[in-house]
Amino acid sequence: MGKEEIKFCSCCGLPFPKHDFGKNRQTPDGLAYYTKAHAAQKQKTFRVTHPEQVRDSRERYLNKLRERNSA
Ligand SMILES: [Zn+2]
Repeated sequence: MGKEEIKFCSCCGLPFPKHDFGKNRQTPDGLAYYTKAHAAQKQKTFRVTHPEQVRDSRERYLNKLRERNSA
């Protein structure tokens, strides 16, 4: 086993082993910006602080599904 590589979490700036990060094909290194735990925490916080936005995007998503099903 080699030395564990470290990446800095973008939400808190703290270093974590790379295996703590999820995958994200849109980032240069192929890893998510935040650790999995922090990403989940952020999502939870976002849902609490932006309930309307979450509902809106959910509705948009459902509408899209409905459109696709009726087409
Ligand atoms: Zn963080």
